[in-house]
Amino acid sequence: MGIVKQPFEYYVVLDFEATCDRGKAPVPQEIIEFPSVLLSGDTFEILDEFRSFVQPRFNRLLTPFCTELTGITQDQVDQAPLFPEVLDDHIAWLRGRGLGVRSRDEGSDFAYITCGDWDLQKMFRTQCRVCQPPIGRIPEAFERWVNIKKHFAASFGLKKTSGMSGMLRRLKLELTGRHHCGIDDCRNIAKIVRCLAGRGVELSTTNQPPGGPGGL
Ligand code: AMP
Ligand code: MG
Ligand code: MG
Repeated sequence: MGIVKQPFEYYVVLDFEATCDRGKAPVPQEIIEFPSVLLSGDTFEILDEFRSFVQPRFNRLLTPFCTELTGITQDQVDQAPLFPEVLDDHIAWLRGRGLGVRSRDEGSDFAYITCGDWDLQKMFRTQCRVCQPPIGRIPEAFERWVNIKKHFAASFGLKKTSGMSGMLRRLKLELTGRHHCGIDDCRNIAKIVRCLAGRGVELSTTNQPPGGPGGL
C-alpha cells in the first residue's frame, strides 16, 4: 500500500532508443527500441513489460556508435516490424491489461512516466510524422506524461535536473543491466519512481496537453 494516494491507478514507464551517431543525430531520428514497464500506482511493483525493436526506414544502417551505446544490433532492427505495427502491438498490450489510450476507450486510467521530455515531446512526434502513412492523430495517452526528473528535482529542492544515473546514485540505488538499453533503462527508472513514491511524492503529470488545461 502506498503512503500517498496517487493520481493514477497505473503508470507505464517508457524509454525509447533511437538511431544516433557521435555528436549529431541522424535526420530524421527514428525509434529503434520501444520498451515499457507497467507499474501499479499503489504498490509500484512491476506488473508486466512490453518490448519490441523497431526497423528504421530512413537510416537503415545503425552506426557502430549506436550499437555500442544501446547494445542494439543491425540484425535485431532488420528483423523487427516497422513503427506503425509496433505502436499497434503496444496499444494492444495496454488494452489487454485493461488500459485505454484514447479518451473514448473503456479502461483504467494510467500515465506514462519518462526520464526527461524528449521521448514524448520530441521523439514520438517526429516518428509519427515520418512513418508511412504518417500518424496524424496521436492517441491522448501520449500527450500527457510524468517527467520523473522534474519530480526528483522538486523533491530534493534542486535547481538543475539530473539524469537517470545521477538520480540512482543520489537514491543509493544500483544501476542494473545496461544503461541505454531501453528495457533496462525502464526498469531502472521504475526503481527511481518506486523510491520517490515511497517518500510520498505525488506522481502528477508534468506537461500541459496541447490546447492548455482541458486539452483539445
Ligand atoms: P537514453 O534513453 O538516455 O538511452 O537515450 C535515448 C536516445 O538518445 C538514444 O537511443 C540515442 O539515440 C540518444 N542518445 C543518448 N545518449 C547519447 C549520446 N551520448 N550521444 C548520442 N546520442 C545519444
Ligand atoms: Mg531515455
Ligand atoms: Mg534509454
